[in-house]
Amino acid sequence: QNASHLAPLDMSKIIETRTTAPREVPPEGVIHTFGGESICSDHMMTASWNAKTGWSAPELKPYGPFTLMPTATVLHYATECFEGMKAYRGFDGKLRVFRPERNTARMLMSAKRISLPAFEPEELEKMIERLLEVDGAKWLPRSGTFCYLRPTMIGTQPQLGVQQPKEALLYVIAAYMPTLDTPTGGMKLLTSPDNTVRAWVGGFGYAKVGANYGPSLLATAEATRKGYGQILWLYEKEGYCTEAGASNFFVVWKNKETGRTEIVTAPLDDKLILDGVTRRSVCELARERLGNEADVVERRYTISEVIEAGKEGRLVEAFAAGTAFFVCPVSLIHHKGEDVEFGMGEDGKGGKYTKTLKQWLKDIMYGNEQHPWGVVI
Ligand code: PMP
Repeated sequence: QNASHLAPLDMSKIIETRTTAPREVPPEGVIHTFGGESICSDHMMTASWNAKTGWSAPELKPYGPFTLMPTATVLHYATECFEGMKAYRGFDGKLRVFRPERNTARMLMSAKRISLPAFEPEELEKMIERLLEVDGAKWLPRSGTFCYLRPTMIGTQPQLGVQQPKEALLYVIAAYMPTLDTPTGGMKLLTSPDNTVRAWVGGFGYAKVGANYGPSLLATAEATRKGYGQILWLYEKEGYCTEAGASNFFVVWKNKETGRTEIVTAPLDDKLILDGVTRRSVCELARERLGNEADVVERRYTISEVIEAGKEGRLVEAFAAGTAFFVCPVSLIHHKGEDVEFGMGEDGKGGKYTKTLKQWLKDIMYGNEQHPWGVVI
């Protein structure tokens, strides 16, 4: 939806209203999300759309609640998609976002999957950047810190008929989040229960739509109760490894035949997994910089292959990769009564590849290395 005769999303029309009631920045070190309300910055960006006229002028306005009719399509038919990205205050004092064009392109893909309107991804990127220009100095003053950005789109048409929404709202908020750094000793994963899948061929697991997340919470809560950090989502009776919680999953092993080191992750072409920006960056950097030392392999692989590699002493390490947990070493996978353990390095903070890839990405995000992926605001 958004035919060419309708108004495009256009940041040159922006209307700005600054807050008269500045919000308080919480003290550092306080946990801001667990069990409470996420704390957002002073402003938010919004733009509304309807099928007759297209996109309204984007607005920067004080952060606050929306008015929504109880019949709004998002509340009934999950016409919602979102993005998750971070803004980083670099060690050089500059504010950066990481490969934002990948998030805005993914948001467009997700929006189309659930019949929300199309938009120019470059204009969404400008909305994100403008919010950071206005709120970044106050909310992200200290080098080495980040905030979390949440571009979101919802179907707002007040109509219970099951049909494509003719009204929508696009917004961007910046939330204050605690650092989710590597848990000491690594993350433990529990494989998904036999009767539960996160995504399926022909479904929408590759899109970042809210409908993928609500139904995953039950298994995740059960895993947490049993002392695991996340679910390793398996697929089909073969037990293909797909994703770890809301992150992509990598295993590093020695190839059974050749003995070469392989960094293995699930493929995109099944459309089962999210095309993670971190995943993509890990693959690209590993291919570019590890040279002949290790091969990056994107293919279907099963939990049995991982268990077998463990028994044969071919497992090197494993990690989850995503915006929230960044590059997080995995120390153990529990699958049907069996534990598979992974190397965590001498300091317990992850194996060599996990740590090297994490450091390369961190250097780009925080400006230790000038790189086109680190976009300065
Ligand atoms: N898989 C899922 C299901 C996710 O929700 C996320 C987080 N967006 C990821 C993987 C990791 O993607 P990214 O690296 O872009 O954060």
